[in-house]
Amino acid sequence: MALTGNTTEAKIWNHLKGWILNDYGAAALMGHLYAESGLNPRNLQNSYEKSLGYTDDAYTAAVDSGSYAGFVRDSAGYGLAQWTYWSRKEALLAYAKAAGASVGDLEAQLGFLRKELTESYPSVLAALKSAKNVREASDVVLTKYERPADQSENVKIKRAGYGQTYLSKYAGGSSAGKEGKTMSNSSLVNCTVYSPNHSGKRTHSIDTLTPHCVVGQLTAEAIGGCFPKGREASCNYGIGKDGRVCLIVDECNRSWCSSSNSNDQRAITIECASDTSSPYAMNSAVYEKLIQLCADICKRNGKTKVLWLGSKEKTLAYTPKSDEMVLTAHRWFANKSCPGDWLYSRYGELANRINALLGSGASTGSSGSGSSGSGSTSPSGSVLYCVQTGAYSKKANADAQAAKMKAKGFEVLVKNVGGMYKVQTGAYSKKANAEAQLAKVKAAGFDAFITTNGGSSAGSSEIAVGDAVQFAGGPHYKSADATSSSGSPKAGPAKVTAIKKGAKHPYHVVHTNRQSSVYGWVDADRVTK
Ligand SMILES: [Zn+2]
Repeated sequence: MALTGNTTEAKIWNHLKGWILNDYGAAALMGHLYAESGLNPRNLQNSYEKSLGYTDDAYTAAVDSGSYAGFVRDSAGYGLAQWTYWSRKEALLAYAKAAGASVGDLEAQLGFLRKELTESYPSVLAALKSAKNVREASDVVLTKYERPADQSENVKIKRAGYGQTYLSKYAGGSSAGKEGKTMSNSSLVNCTVYSPNHSGKRTHSIDTLTPHCVVGQLTAEAIGGCFPKGREASCNYGIGKDGRVCLIVDECNRSWCSSSNSNDQRAITIECASDTSSPYAMNSAVYEKLIQLCADICKRNGKTKVLWLGSKEKTLAYTPKSDEMVLTAHRWFANKSCPGDWLYSRYGELANRINALLGSGASTGSSGSGSSGSGSTSPSGSVLYCVQTGAYSKKANADAQAAKMKAKGFEVLVKNVGGMYKVQTGAYSKKANAEAQLAKVKAAGFDAFITTNGGSSAGSSEIAVGDAVQFAGGPHYKSADATSSSGSPKAGPAKVTAIKKGAKHPYHVVHTNRQSSVYGWVDADRVTK
């Protein structure tokens, strides 16, 4: 079967789709090939390049010519799927030779991949062919086919995320091969329990997030089970007590969740496991997953920031810009306490935390220019430890405190968190760093403490032009607002050479050694200091 497509990536997609016959399955497998090899069939496991003294191409040529005889037994990962175990490498080599092709030939490797899955991993192939979302298919490939040492939840999320990107790119719309805003579901989904209770396609584009409290510490599956035929209620997603996510109504459809037709037409609705009585508190696993899920929803729907405007009146009077999402609450539309005081009082922080993942500035519209932070990204959405030196109901008082701090040489940010103006001096992903800053602030005579209730910000950890950063791997772009990437280089150290705040791909980075070939504009969540 000849390969079709203009790029290696397109050829791989077309080939996988051609025999898996399932978009989710093909995208999930492709996400793993990307994670393993960057889609380079001649990729020799990096750690072996040095010990064996070969580059990718030299190794491939030496194996092909027979001048290097160690291919089968050298334990070095090689090719699209980074085949490592001797019997698999032996079979790959035999397959390529029989086809009269180089061991690094793309078509030969795709053929071998298909043969291997068909003959040796039929349950994995069956899962790919019947996949209903990327995440489930991706987890099967991870745990039953690729089986890397690290199979943690973080790795699962990351790999399914790669798959989701390919799904959006190649299976997202009717305009073939065109990237853009596409209707899809989150790759964070762990299970699917569809409810028949919805109105079909939305009549309004998605620009709203409405989290709810489900009033019970339920599992993800149990939340899915709350909305059978006849119940007259549903939601798009549920988050179970342990942080697992259930898909209940596809994002493209209008759920029946918020007692408001106009809200549900434009909102992604999320039922979260909570206590059964006020304030309907949620586990941290639920809250953290809500942040991640909301960030994922924003990214796939072309949103760069979430706004918490502080009240029903302000929110409903506001028309979100095309890259904005607003937070709304069920209690505005019905005589209910949903989403519960526990979560409702955290809406400001929730927006900040989502925005930190999106790499955009914290936004609380009701506070005017209260927050000027440009959003330090907290790697992988971990908690940010903020050093806070005061909280005031009047902005003028917060500004006065900030001025005193600045006079002593501290970098300060006034932020509106949950209706209070809080004075912060630093936000850190490592608690030890926050403690060091706390000690300095106290030594200067200020009362201060560490809080995780502060979201993003802080000049000290902000990425600036000239900074050495770690590039996490993934697409790079020719311009800061480009819609299609110009490749997906591997992870590695890089330097920031330009910044365009608010752009889709705000950092221009250039690789600083040969680990990565990144050279272009990248997303904020791809770089860390
Ligand atoms: Zn509700």
